[in-house]
Amino acid sequence: MASKTLSSFLLQNLTELREQGLYNTIDPLESPNGPVIRMKGREFVNLSSNNYLGLATDKRLVDAAVQATIRFGVGSGAVRTINGTLTLHVELEEKLAAFKGTEAAVAFQSGFNCNMAAISAVMGAGDAILSDELNHASIIDGCRLTKAKVIRYGHSDMADLRAKAKEARESGAFEKIMVITDGVFSMDGDIAKLPEIVDIAEAYDLITYVDDAHGSGVLGGGAGTVKHFGLSDRIDFQIGTLSKAVGVVGGYVAGTQEVVDWLKARSRPFLFSTSLPPGTVAACIAAIDIMQGSKELQERLWENAAYLQKGLKALGFSTGHTATPITPCLIGDEEKTQRFSARLYEEGIYAKAIVFPTVPKGTGRVRNMPTAEHTTEMLDRALAAYEKVGRELGMIR
Ligand code: PMP
Repeated sequence: MASKTLSSFLLQNLTELREQGLYNTIDPLESPNGPVIRMKGREFVNLSSNNYLGLATDKRLVDAAVQATIRFGVGSGAVRTINGTLTLHVELEEKLAAFKGTEAAVAFQSGFNCNMAAISAVMGAGDAILSDELNHASIIDGCRLTKAKVIRYGHSDMADLRAKAKEARESGAFEKIMVITDGVFSMDGDIAKLPEIVDIAEAYDLITYVDDAHGSGVLGGGAGTVKHFGLSDRIDFQIGTLSKAVGVVGGYVAGTQEVVDWLKARSRPFLFSTSLPPGTVAACIAAIDIMQGSKELQERLWENAAYLQKGLKALGFSTGHTATPITPCLIGDEEKTQRFSARLYEEGIYAKAIVFPTVPKGTGRVRNMPTAEHTTEMLDRALAAYEKVGRELGMIR
């Protein structure tokens, strides 16, 4: 029989969430997560995936996954340090390091898991972490796993970061101090001010940690935000995910050999959670080869992003201060944002409403994620729907 306290807790909180319109309803996809998807028997132009380069459905990755699965099986059979390290894992890590321009890299089971792993392996009691207020949830949780003092600084507010770094260092209260930032902020598409962050870090001896989930495969010729700014030898931790531009699943840390050796010795998901399956690893290797071999997919992604952003602005919408393919259409009011997204859905466009608590109250937006695979015709369909719904809801004239 269910616990009474659990039942009343769940009932009360689920009811509240549903009443506030904050409970996610989830429609499963009846198709691959490509530029057009099928749900409930209907087709939609898909503007909500992180499949930036279209690699999630690329035949070359599928073939690599199938071949590796036939050869090695579906599971790796153990955690990395027992005997769950296949030659494939080593190959992937070598390729990731070469791709990122670092000495070494280590793979994890997801990007989320990677932040939990890496932050807590290095930071502890007596340390401090300076964290951008808009950092991803996995960074926040990774910080929570440490006993370090977490000091939030205003979003990309370099004066605030400098003042807090100075105060923390000069207080003498902390041994290690780390600054953590997303490379590209996932809800707005703006890029972290890494050159300034690195200068501040060097002035106050901060460890630098960049979660480049949305920059990898997208910026810096694909190598990410750190490469984009030419800072490869001045960042200690470059985190990436294998689930977005790479199109599969997993995460990694790229850094010096020492950093990687330490994570292999101390990070808990590496030690205590079964490693990535062979098919997944082989598909990731194929993806890195494709990204290194040609910039064509990245070029198409940026062209499509520019087309969509220009079209939305011409209609009179605001896309905020994005500097990447992430394209928010800013609306503000939560209810209006939900209504906008629901109307787009009726018009055959799948673009998710992003509202509090994912973003601050009053800053609701419909977030669009163009990919390399969208055709101009698909983007035009989306823009036509934006125009229709925007007029209907009195947002544009
Ligand atoms: N970091 C950032 C900045 C992200 O946007 C995400 C994905 N939402 C993650 C980490 C987690 O990555 P994954 O989906 O691979 O677990």
